[in-house]
Amino acid sequence: MKNRILQTYKNLYAEYSPQGWWPLLSCKGVNPTKTGSINGYHPNNYSYPHNDDERLEICIGAILTQNTSWPNVEKALLNLQKLKAINQKKILKLKIEKLKEAIRPAGYFNQKAKKLKIFAEFYNELKGRTPLRDELLTIWGVGPETADSILLYAYNEPFFVIDAYTKRIFTRLGLTGINSSYAELQNLFHKNLKRDTKIFNEYHALIVEHAKNKCQNKPFCKSCCLKKICAFDCV
Ligand code: SF4
Repeated sequence: MKNRILQTYKNLYAEYSPQGWWPLLSCKGVNPTKTGSINGYHPNNYSYPHNDDERLEICIGAILTQNTSWPNVEKALLNLQKLKAINQKKILKLKIEKLKEAIRPAGYFNQKAKKLKIFAEFYNELKGRTPLRDELLTIWGVGPETADSILLYAYNEPFFVIDAYTKRIFTRLGLTGINSSYAELQNLFHKNLKRDTKIFNEYHALIVEHAKNKCQNKPFCKSCCLKKICAFDCV
């Protein structure tokens, strides 16, 4: 199992190269595969975030990206940046209607504005401390995927992020069952990989890229870099 999880990572890395995820407004790099938004990427640079506001920007992005694609989140973040509101104290002060308007491009803006207000309060009370996963999970609007995205990308803590793409690809590879829970899937990575944030960071981004490129609902198996190690009945 260990070898197959690692081999999958190596094949994806060789195919797509470092992804430079999580995108930040201050970064000038481009998305190496040019899918979706092309701004804010930092391939091969795992040193982000560099300050508290960048850390909060990642947390806000992790909440805003629920049920929408990244280009929509980027528009909302740019609106918040124009209001100088990528800062917990500014979010708390901002009138809710103005916040809703700014994040409208990310969809579900009524709910997400409330989520951001609640998160800003939580972030403010942290006073720079790294939150515990259990603390994040008590916040309204923060589920396991959002909590792990925040821990991994904003705090460099080794928690593997599981999403629908991970489930689809690893079920097809034959490495997990269709009914696996979030925790079971996460354990697959935690047990079979070194708890290394760089690998976790890159692996998740590569999975997303692969799901968009090849392992779509209707997969393009013929040209897939994982074909030789995949259990899926490719036609
Ligand atoms: S071979 Fe097909 S099913 Fe398997 S990972 Fe590749 S695209 Fe997905």
